[in-house]
Amino acid sequence: MESCACEKCVSACRRDPGRLVPADVKKIADFLNIGAAELCRGYLVRIPARGRDGHVQFLAPAKIKARRFLAAPGSVVPDYYAGEAGRCVFLSGQGQCLVHEVKPFECAAYMGCRHTFLGRPYKEKDVEAFFVSRWRKAQDQFR
Ligand code: SF4
Ligand code: SF4
Repeated sequence: MESCACEKCVSACRRDPGRLVPADVKKIADFLNIGAAELCRGYLVRIPARGRDGHVQFLAPAKIKARRFLAAPGSVVPDYYAGEAGRCVFLSGQGQCLVHEVKPFECAAYMGCRHTFLGRPYKEKDVEAFFVSRWRKAQDQFR
């Protein structure tokens, strides 16, 4: 998927990094020249889906606030995590994505200026269902 890259558009990167799909793990790990396990332990957090899909966990870049991780990389985030804004671990000090070429699926599929996901109006419930469907069968792959 092609992803856009206006330098000014990093508001989501400063608040709530985009979720990965399972195939992103190897792509990003290869890009960083590290293993998948190191990526998961050192840069990503596990986010449980809401409601009855809570047994499904997504991977997303860890958030940083005041120079500290809001939840430790490799961990399952606490309930309050979604409501806490934090900058993405892959956002450089100059406001650029350090993994732009292989950025997580949600980062590439979301257009902040149009508030769309895969070209459709962004609806939290539908986007969550999309990621649940992608992660349901891959739960044990990156533990
Ligand atoms: S991975 Fe890149 S595009 Fe996605 S939130 Fe982080 S800095 Fe932004
Ligand atoms: S979402 Fe819009 S503003 Fe943001 S990088 Fe893409 S085209 Fe630019």
